Amino acid sequence: MARYTGPVCRLCRRETMKLFLKGEKCFSSKCPVEKRSFPPGQHGKDRRPKIVGYGLQLREKQKTRRIYGLLEQQFRGYFEKAARKPGVTGELLLRQLESRLDNVVYRLGFAASRAQARQFVRHGHILVDGRRVDIPSYQLRENQAVAVKEASRQNPQLLSALDFASHQTLPSWLELRREEFAGRVLGPPKREDVNLPIQEQMIVELYSK
Ligand code: SF4
Repeated sequence: MARYTGPVCRLCRRETMKLFLKGEKCFSSKCPVEKRSFPPGQHGKDRRPKIVGYGLQLREKQKTRRIYGLLEQQFRGYFEKAARKPGVTGELLLRQLESRLDNVVYRLGFAASRAQARQFVRHGHILVDGRRVDIPSYQLRENQAVAVKEASRQNPQLLSALDFASHQTLPSWLELRREEFAGRVLGPPKREDVNLPIQEQMIVELYSK
């Protein structure tokens, strides 16, 4: 499936905020948003119209879509699925996004970014309940186990990500057994576990027009 392959830092600059798409660099002074928190382009600095209404909702959706690395069609599919279920649509949308296998691999610290996690999954480095799953969008359920394949455990990128993640907080809905390169889903992610600056209600309003 077609995917954005341009410079990812540009996406953060477009949203004028950190979307944490590049792993360790995002936490360093090399992050371009630290130096230039205005949209990219020749006139990015001058062009600052006040965004209201539809514009705000659109930016919220684009930001969320970019954080999880999804195309419009996929993202809309998640929304429609959430809207059909009983409950708070915005929270159900975030729950589906968080439960994706690539996101869980990233959250467990096996990858430095969601993009890298997606690549690890696609390349067959990740097992779910002992079986290889190479579908990044695979939805994990309670009690399912996620592990790194034994032959992949010395992957330098994975080791460096794990090392960096040891300084980060693990979400309460996940369990990690670092020495076994394994984790488990303890339950569905709750809204308070999604530590991202997302106003999901705006996305619901946008798609409900
Ligand atoms: Fe975004 Fe990370 Fe690039 Fe900073 S370093 S602009 S947070 S992707």
